[in-house]
Amino acid sequence: MASGEHIGCWALTEPGTGSDASAQKTTAKRVGDHYVLNGTKQFITNATDADTAIIMAMTDKSQGSKAFHPLLWKKGTPGFFVSKVEKKLGMRGSPTASLTFEDCKNTVENMLGAEGEGYKQALMTLGGGRLSIGALALGIAQSCV
Ligand SMILES: Cc1cc2nc3c(=O)[nH]c(=O)nc-3n(C[C@H](O)[C@H](O)[C@H](O)COP(=O)(O)OP(=O)(O)OC[C@H]3O[C@@H](n4cnc5c(N)ncnc54)[C@H](O)[C@@H]3O)c2cc1C
Repeated sequence: MASGEHIGCWALTEPGTGSDASAQKTTAKRVGDHYVLNGTKQFITNATDADTAIIMAMTDKSQGSKAFHPLLWKKGTPGFFVSKVEKKLGMRGSPTASLTFEDCKNTVENMLGAEGEGYKQALMTLGGGRLSIGALALGIAQSCV
């Protein structure tokens, strides 16, 4: 990824879960040594081209944000689909699409970071992302003017 030979994507946003990231509906249910993922992510940058995706999911909804976990997924896993590709007004340098998961299985080793820290990780990633969104908005506004 660092060399640019391998593309990744990071998927948090869902239909109905944007600004309020804690309202996640995608679930990763533990079954033995696997997680079984079900749900849909939308507006995901590079979703069509990514070889690897980091997907945020809830392992146990009753535990709230403590059950919020990032999992690493490989494209081509059965039950992993790239769904709607957005036709955008601008920012066409990167594709934006939805990802759908239907009983998609993954081994437990693919959970990233310590248990219970997923929500904190997601908020840190969003914090960094806001700097680039600010720069993008400024550039687009300058071009319009
Ligand atoms: C080009 C593009 C690329 C993206 N890439 C990614 C990606 O790679 N991965 C990913 O996970 N997501 C990605 N996103 C999604 C992005 O993070 C969300 O669009 C963002 O979190 C906002 O969510 P939303 O679109 O559902 O808007 P909403 O949350 O529905 O917000 C709509 C409007 O309501 C306002 N609003 C929301 N809540 C409140 C409130 N409580 N009080 C007052 N006003 C409020 C917002 O400020 C906004 O103006 C991308 C989006 C775009 C457009």
